Amino acid sequence: SVLERMNAVEGDVQAYITKMQDTALQRAKAVDAKIQRGEPVSPLAGIPGAIKDNICTSGVKTTCASKILAGFTPPYNATVMEKLGEDAVIVGKANLDEFAMGGSTENSAFQSTRNPWDLTAVPGGSSGGSAAAVAAGEAIWALGSDTGGSIRQPAAYCGQVGLKPTYGRVSRYGLVAFASSLDQIGPISRDVTDCAYVMNAIAGYDAKDSTSINAAAPDFTKALVPGIKGLKIGLPREYFVPGMDPEVEKSIRRAIDQLVALGAELTEISMPHTQYALSAYYLIAPAEASSNLARYDGVGFGHRAAGGSDIIDMYRKTRSEAFGPEVKRRIMLGTYALSSGYYDAYYLKALKIRTLVKQDFDRAFEKVDVLITPTAPTTAFKFGEKADDPLSMYLQDVCTIPVNLAGVPAISIPCGFSGILPIGLQIIGKPLAEETIIRTAYTFE
Ligand code: GLN
Repeated sequence: SVLERMNAVEGDVQAYITKMQDTALQRAKAVDAKIQRGEPVSPLAGIPGAIKDNICTSGVKTTCASKILAGFTPPYNATVMEKLGEDAVIVGKANLDEFAMGGSTENSAFQSTRNPWDLTAVPGGSSGGSAAAVAAGEAIWALGSDTGGSIRQPAAYCGQVGLKPTYGRVSRYGLVAFASSLDQIGPISRDVTDCAYVMNAIAGYDAKDSTSINAAAPDFTKALVPGIKGLKIGLPREYFVPGMDPEVEKSIRRAIDQLVALGAELTEISMPHTQYALSAYYLIAPAEASSNLARYDGVGFGHRAAGGSDIIDMYRKTRSEAFGPEVKRRIMLGTYALSSGYYDAYYLKALKIRTLVKQDFDRAFEKVDVLITPTAPTTAFKFGEKADDPLSMYLQDVCTIPVNLAGVPAISIPCGFSGILPIGLQIIGKPLAEETIIRTAYTFE
């Protein structure tokens, strides 16, 4: 039925860069045969999923929605793909903003993914293909990656559940690096139950990722229990920013009233460094990106420009013609911030702000178990509305970015509509407390 759905709606939604219907069907048949033979299969066996196209899949093109990786087929699997194993039925590689840089999927070099709730609106980003695929029924679950909000914000815009795990909870091995100190892979799903199952499949220590946390992953489905009596909820006032859609604020406050009615204790708190988080992120993430993207030089993999007069000229031509404008902007910003003479003024200062933001979270979690905020200040916007104004695009990330800077886990769940477009509510937890945020989210299921 998922394949039929892809045939029916993919022309409108355009969630996939690479469709894998044939291999999906083969895998599904193999799973079925195993079940017939009475062999054990994994919990996600046979359930169609989509993989963001910045996660390496052995033998299947991995483009990062960039012309520079056109034609690149990784010879190995990301750890998450190994963990999903042979029983996983992958129906396609999902569209994204080029190298996961963006918040609308408009920065893809190949196509624009549309929001299934309103085809004139963006699906969010950068995991817009993953979120739209699940929302449109073109997959039952998906993997995305989240550096500053790229799982949670598209999940919110498309009315789905999206979880960014604690930094180090899920291996980044085989995730094409954007900003290595912030990137995490996580699930996008229709409900919290499915989210827990996908987390079970992908979480856990991996020796191939030096930042992987050496702690056993729990059974996340154990957190799918009703009851939040006595749960301490913090409402950080700095997250209710000017310019926020009043419908978003109303829905969040309504959801909080429900939690209180169910026995949660509410405290208003202040996280004073929140206002600096966005600026710090837009120095740190481009700085790391400028270094990570140095490897695309036309030699190792992907696209090489023709006609370079010497090797430097070949590098220059390759990078000029195959990176899109947003990627170039970030490489330039990052290189500038890391240059001698500017390093102390920009990059080092941003790192200090990162520590202050992290301390805001530490202090908040001395008083409360979870923090509740909107996922984004507005619902999905129209195509082109912010494409020429990077700053207004960056502002969509105010509520999600501090979470990445602090490395803590957060989930976005649907909590109402503004007009026909879904609103997302974000629940933030202590490090490694995915179970607490899953349990809180499950209250609404
Ligand atoms: N929108 C943010 C950015 O453009 C976050 C992207 C992400 O999480 N990958 O950097």
